[in-house]
Amino acid sequence: PSTTLETPLLRFLKDTHADFSRIDEGEVASYIPELGKANPDHFGIAVATTDGHVYEAGDTQVPFTIQSVSKAMVFALALDLLGAERVEAAIGVEPSGEAFNSIRLRADNKPFNAMVNAGAIACSGLIAESTGGDAFELIRQALGRFAGRDLGLDEAVFESERSTGDRNRAIAYLLRTYGGVTGDVDRLLDVYFRQCSVLVTARDLAVMGATFANHGVNPLTGVTVASSYAVARTLAVMSSSGMYDFAGEWIYRVGVPAKSGVGGGILAALPSQLGLGTFSPRLDMHGNSVRGIRTCEAISEAFDLHMLSRR
Ligand code: GLN
Repeated sequence: PSTTLETPLLRFLKDTHADFSRIDEGEVASYIPELGKANPDHFGIAVATTDGHVYEAGDTQVPFTIQSVSKAMVFALALDLLGAERVEAAIGVEPSGEAFNSIRLRADNKPFNAMVNAGAIACSGLIAESTGGDAFELIRQALGRFAGRDLGLDEAVFESERSTGDRNRAIAYLLRTYGGVTGDVDRLLDVYFRQCSVLVTARDLAVMGATFANHGVNPLTGVTVASSYAVARTLAVMSSSGMYDFAGEWIYRVGVPAKSGVGGGILAALPSQLGLGTFSPRLDMHGNSVRGIRTCEAISEAFDLHMLSRR
């Protein structure tokens, strides 16, 4: 792939990287103590096209934990693995208008959607229930197919979240009272916390995004990793809820389905065009990467990527 070619896009990524490296607003997440050790200056931007070219600027090879970005791929996996009917009966597709870690469920006691913690925990629960084997291993392999490479786990972040994740434990117990999850809550949360602790790079997020943009076929490996039904529905929920209680603002300004994580990653996917991956651990009050948002806005504007303004 033409990572060294000086195209207008690559030039733009490098300039944007240089400009936005100066932004120092936002705080590294510390409610998971291990995440607080992240280097706040790390900053990477990568774009992967649906024809398999990757363009990178800055710290695109630095690994960080995927956190909530995993919720997108895991929702797609659940739709394909369990069937849409089962998943859609258990998890809603409505924006919550609340923070990612909100403990509130809908009036019918279903989680609002799979992009916030309650819905994602229910989603991983469905996968865990349906597999006799190791649910995390299934998820890790699916994430790896999206990225086009085998992905490892940050054990320290996993242990750190497991030992401090009482809020997610509370959400899981609440879900269990309504049958939204079944079985042992700690076993299920181990799957969810491990899923969040999978190590990726900004480049990986771009390739994962390009796989969504390419209707479920990884453009680097040629492997079909999700059905077109699962891809379209996942992108739909990302559009309305992928950036939590900033989702409306995001789709208005950037106009590209996206998912963020408190590790500092953002994955965006513009169907039939490209995937965009950014990494910068300084977060705003919603838990979204400050430089990542600015970068996606700038790229969307410069290359006219807003999906509702495309000809
Ligand atoms: N593991 C994190 C949590 O459940 C993920 C949250 C996020 O990335 N927004 O709190």
